[in-house]
Formats: sequence, C-alpha cells, structure tokens
Amino acid sequence: MRRRPPMSLEDAALAVVRRLREHGHEALWAGGCVRDMLLGVEPADIDVATDAPPDTIVELFRRTRKVGVQFGVVLVGQGRHWIETATFRTDLDYRDGRRPEQVVFTTAEEDTKRRDFTINGLFYDPLERKVIDYVNGQADLDAKIIRAIGNPEERFAEDHLRMLRAVRFACRLGFTIDAATAEAITRHADRIQRISAERVREELEKMLAHPSRAEAVNWLARLGLLVYLPLGCTWPDGRLARACQILTALPKDADLILALAALLADTPATQAARMARNLRCSNQQTGDLSWLLTRCSQLDQVADMRPATFKKLAVHPRFSDLLALHQAVGTADGRPLEANRAARRRLAGIPQDQLAPPPLVTGEDLIALGLQPGPDFSRILDAMYDAQLDGEFADRPTALIHLREEVGGQ
Ligand code: ATP
Ligand code: MG
Repeated sequence: MRRRPPMSLEDAALAVVRRLREHGHEALWAGGCVRDMLLGVEPADIDVATDAPPDTIVELFRRTRKVGVQFGVVLVGQGRHWIETATFRTDLDYRDGRRPEQVVFTTAEEDTKRRDFTINGLFYDPLERKVIDYVNGQADLDAKIIRAIGNPEERFAEDHLRMLRAVRFACRLGFTIDAATAEAITRHADRIQRISAERVREELEKMLAHPSRAEAVNWLARLGLLVYLPLGCTWPDGRLARACQILTALPKDADLILALAALLADTPATQAARMARNLRCSNQQTGDLSWLLTRCSQLDQVADMRPATFKKLAVHPRFSDLLALHQAVGTADGRPLEANRAARRRLAGIPQDQLAPPPLVTGEDLIALGLQPGPDFSRILDAMYDAQLDGEFADRPTALIHLREEVGGQ
C-alpha cells in the first residue's frame, strides 16, 4: 500500500480555513505568515484568525487543544501540524506594560489594531488568494518600514516588549524603523526593565543568533534600549563600536553565547558571567561564556603551548567557537591572524582519538603501588595524564614505568 505524503503546512492551514468557512465563519491567515509570504520567505508557522469563538472551533475539529483559551486561541491538529487558530479579538487591560488581562472577541479589522506593527497586521484569504490590509502594511513592506499600528506611544506603553520586537524585525528584514515609532521607543526605553529577564533574553537571542546581530546592537544603542537590558553595563562609544566590529566578524551561524562573548569581549569573565545570570542564561551557557572569555587571549600563545594544554583546550565543545571568537577579535583589531591559523593547523594535525584518549593509568595502579588515596593521588594522576597527552608514552607498560618513577620521586 502506498503511503500518502505528509500534509504540508499550507495544506493544513488551508484545511482549517476551509472547514470554518463551510460552517459560515470568516477565517483568514494572519500576522507574521502573511508578511513572510509577501517577502518570499517560507513562514515557520501559519496562524489562522476567525470570528468563530473557541467553543465552536473545538466543536468543528476532531483534534484540538485549548492553549490561550482566555485569549481565544485553540490549536487545531491537521496531519502532523498544529495550527494556531485564534478568535478575532481586542486586548484589554494591559497591566504594567505586560500581557493583557482580558480580551473581547471582535472583527478582523478590530483584531489588526491589537497587533504590533503594520507589516504584522496583514490577513490573507487563501481561498480567494487575496491580501486583506486594514493598516497599509503592504506599503510598509514595500518601503521596508517598521511602523507601529495606531499611536506608537500607547502601543509601547501597553506592551514594552514590542520595543525589542521592533528592533528584531528591523534587523532581521533589513528594514528601517519609522521616525515616530523610533521616537516612541526612545521615550519608553527605560521601561524595558519592567519586562522579565526571560522574555528579554528570548528576544535578544533571536537578534544575536541572527547574522544581522551587529545592526541589532547598533539599533538597541541608538534607541536607548541597550543600557536598560539586564546586562548592567554602560556603553561608551568606543566600546560599542569595537563590540559591533567583533560581532560583524563572527561566523553567520554564531549562537547566543558566542555572540554574547563577542559583545562582552572586553568585559572580565566574572562580570560577564554575572550578566549572563542576569539574563537567566543556564549554568551551562554561563560557564561556556566565561570559558570563552578567559581562554580567548590564551590562544595568542598557541605556539608556546605544550601539547597537553592545547589538547585539553581543543577538546572543549566550545573550541570551534573559541577559534571563531579569537579570529573575530583579531579581525576587529586589525591584528595579524597568524596565531589563529596556527591553532587551526595544530588542531587539524591531531588525530581525533588522540585529543582526549582514556588515561593509561588510574587510581587502581597507584593503590597497587601501595599509595593511600589522598590529595597526592589526583596530582599524580593529572601529571601522568598530561605526560600522556604530551606523548611521553603511548602504551600501558611504558606508562607504568613512568608511574613508578613518579611515585618513587615523591
Ligand atoms: P516570527 O517569525 O518571529 O514568529 P511573527 O510575526 O510570527 O514573527 P509571533 O510572535 O509568532 O511573531 O506573533 C504572531 C503575530 O501576533 C505577529 O505577527 C503579530 O501580529 C502578533 N503579535 C505577537 N506578539 C505581539 C505583541 N507583543 N504585541 C502585539 N502583537 C503581537
Ligand atoms: Mg510566528
């Protein structure tokens, strides 16, 4: 029996619209997916907006999951996709610049008014293949402008996170931010401090993990947002310019931690670790950030590094990021990249199985030689492992001869 090919995202979202329409409801694709389609970018998800209330959505489809039901959002299962299907709504009662407390269900036109930017306020009728534009979003898409829907002052006062979203869309798409929208952001910039560090980190991650990361940092600085991020440092012009040069020189696919290391390249590692914790980065991420910052300058001395030191560095999962950071800092400073090239050559010259081979001798060998477990134990074993990595011996019998000498010399 031939298997049917899996349902595409578009077909899944189309099926949701079709069924709602068959039951007399209005239903459209909405928001970011319309923007992406008009830009010729494949949307990551397709959201449906409808005048059907949540209970009706649930009745009409076999597989549903209520998610933000107080906001009128239901996930509808179609094939392997879950299509976010939301009832047209107006958001009410923004408390303290965060999420709305209450919503009322309305029309498509009213629904656009709660959305953040004109380019995100578009609808698309996939049956008629027609864009529905109540907010001049298509004109702003053509002119490459991020413009708040309605009064920008009010929109950023309602939800402060939108300020970071404006920067993110501007950088990701290579757009400018409309003057009135940018001025409103500048006036509200300090309120970004009221947004939880997790939500700020999520937005920042989307910006810094994107190749346009240097522009993002420039925008954040220009709009006055950078100083109010939960990093807790000031940005004199020289520092900012250098940070942006380093960010520009990173590989395109750098992640949040590598980008943060570039942004904070001149910051002592302990202080940078504190900033990462302020951003609610995980312990692993915080550790990686401080490892990158403490090791970066050590790579300058790669030619003098004993093999054991180099191998222990090179085996770290972030080593390729370390090479990238070191290269970006060197490029930004206009220094010769000889040490970086030497490190890459040295890495390439070490067979994979010799980077972190299992130790040839263990604590049991020490006990067999009559030593009691104690502080000397790990010191001797560390010295033995370093000697092994240095290539002083390559098999167990020779290792045991070395061990006896080491113990005998105590
Ligand atoms: P992305 O490609 O990052 O997913 P998106 O535009 O789809 O971009 P989402 O966060 O998925 O962004 O939100 C979907 C839509 O919901 C947006 O296009 C916008 O219309 C609306 N929206 C999301 N967050 C906000 C907000 N904070 N304020 C107003 N409208 C918002
Ligand atoms: Mg989206």
